[in-house]
Amino acid sequence: MKKIAKGFGIGIIVAVIGLLIFGAVNRTIAMSEEETQSEYQAADFSTHENEVAVTVDETDAISEHDTLSTPIALLPVGEVNQAEIDALFYMREEEKLARDVYLFLANQWGLPAFSNIAKSEQTHMDSVLELFNRYGLTDSASAEAGVFNNIDLQALYNQLIAQGSISAEEAFKVGAAIEEIDILDLQVRLTQTDQEDIQQVFNSLLLGSYNHLNAFVGNLSNRYGITYEPQYISSDLYQQILSTETGGSGSGFGNGQGGGGSGNN
Ligand code: ZN
Ligand code: ZN
Repeated sequence: MKKIAKGFGIGIIVAVIGLLIFGAVNRTIAMSEEETQSEYQAADFSTHENEVAVTVDETDAISEHDTLSTPIALLPVGEVNQAEIDALFYMREEEKLARDVYLFLANQWGLPAFSNIAKSEQTHMDSVLELFNRYGLTDSASAEAGVFNNIDLQALYNQLIAQGSISAEEAFKVGAAIEEIDILDLQVRLTQTDQEDIQQVFNSLLLGSYNHLNAFVGNLSNRYGITYEPQYISSDLYQQILSTETGGSGSGFGNGQGGGGSGNN
């Protein structure tokens, strides 16, 4: 009788433990389903709010990775002339101008497109800084947002944040204008250097600008039905940039730079 009672007792304990485990497992499943669902909802929400910028950030990462397939640390350190030194100082501050204007506009309008692209501009600034270090140059760019050594860039910054403060629509136009100016300046500076590492960094920045231009133009079109007209670059180049917008890999431009896509050879 005692044995039976003991056995019965153990049986109950086992059953209770079993129920506890079963309950715990069930709760875990329910919780993880809830979590997954809310993650989906969060992702879905951010995709709606931020459609163009999210896509672009991804292509940006891909194309910049493609271009930097040879780490610049493996490229020869040559001798930089004054034009190249000027180019490095100028591009460091021009990427800062892009970053600072986008941070300002992100704050002004609460649009994630600007904060996302500002992050990309920070990586562009970092890439130029890497070249400073390679050539023993001392960075002189201000750590303060909106402050520039170059008086033209200072004037441009002041003008652009004033324009971008008018409306969110104007803010996107400011973004497109910055990318156009960046593209032109990079193209000019690229003709003034034969250093492989500088060329590689500038080409990578150029790809970033193509993607950013596409993002701003896409936002203007999707949100306001505006067809952006280029103000600085040629309409041929503009059309080329738009036509390579795929929402996927931006590598078409990497090939285009060398003249001839991979399919032709
Ligand atoms: Zn940039
Ligand atoms: Zn940019």
